[in-house]
Amino acid sequence: MKITFPHMGNVYIAAKTLFDDLGVEYVIPPQTSKASLELGSLHSPEEMCLPFKIMIGNYIHAIENGADTVIITGSCGPCRFGEYCELQMNLLNRLGYNLDFIVIDSPGDIGLKELVTRLGKVSTGSMCNRMDKLKAVLTAVKVVNLIDEVEAKARYLAGFEANKGECKKLLNECKNKAMDCNNGKTMIEHLKKYIDKLNVVKLDHSKEPIKISIIGEIYTVIEPFSNLYIEDKLMDYGISTKRTLTPSWWVKNLVLSPTNMNQLEIKRKAKEYLPYMIGGHARECIGEAVLAHEEGFDGAIQIFPMGCMPEIVSKAILPKISKDKDFPILTLVVDEMTGEAGYVTRIEAFVDLLERRKNHVLSRC
Ligand code: SF4
Repeated sequence: MKITFPHMGNVYIAAKTLFDDLGVEYVIPPQTSKASLELGSLHSPEEMCLPFKIMIGNYIHAIENGADTVIITGSCGPCRFGEYCELQMNLLNRLGYNLDFIVIDSPGDIGLKELVTRLGKVSTGSMCNRMDKLKAVLTAVKVVNLIDEVEAKARYLAGFEANKGECKKLLNECKNKAMDCNNGKTMIEHLKKYIDKLNVVKLDHSKEPIKISIIGEIYTVIEPFSNLYIEDKLMDYGISTKRTLTPSWWVKNLVLSPTNMNQLEIKRKAKEYLPYMIGGHARECIGEAVLAHEEGFDGAIQIFPMGCMPEIVSKAILPKISKDKDFPILTLVVDEMTGEAGYVTRIEAFVDLLERRKNHVLSRC
């Protein structure tokens, strides 16, 4: 068994740690690129959402490198994601690939026993004893928390850094060097080292950077290729960003969902505008927009793939939040036809607007 998985932000770093510690064979697909998207789009239904197409591209690239088993996460409510696994299995079978799928889903949906069975399948080829397997899982969870912490810190501090580009350089260096760590212990040490490095980045406290919250559909906000590296672009502009939806957030949400104690604050903030779970992460998007305003952010950017049903609903609600709270929100819809020039122009125009609003407020103080 040679395991692979679709790319989604920093997930590959935690997955690498898990499989290294379990001692199972795995293939990390090449980083998502135009080639993955073109390959996935070629074989996927045209009207299918972007994440599906990119994932198909990732799988085929991994299969070409010897993978025979795919791990994916399960449904996030009543939207197409719930059907991804079945559809992807059928599609790959039709293309002549014989892949096994292991779907990791919420214990609330499939039951704890079934979740444990599926997790057990992942470690079938491992020689570790039970205790070491459990340790490997816990280490991988720690790694995903740490790498998300590095990323969040770097992206937020980018607005305050005295030496332009330092946070971005450290973030990229951290991710690149993470691939040289071949067990959980060294990976954790490596990530902690970069948290320490970010903690001593020279800051210019006289700066009043623009602060933007990134909200929207979980895959497109997390996977940088799918959003045309928006967070990197904003770092280059000297903007501080924050994003709640991360792989570590997802893990925490998965674990807490059976208790209904998950993301209580976001649910509370969304209540006035969208009190129901309507699929995907639409409710989170609404709650995050309200939260970003309350936390003093200057604006929010919602990103979602063309045709994403839950996010179309949140897009319809966001103008009301924007009006009620005098809080600018930009919506960007991405698909395989998105042109970078027009996309960047819209981001720059939004940043201009936020700057003028901020200068106006500061000049009145
Ligand atoms: S949340 Fe949107 S993009 Fe993601 S699977 Fe569902 S419909 Fe597709």
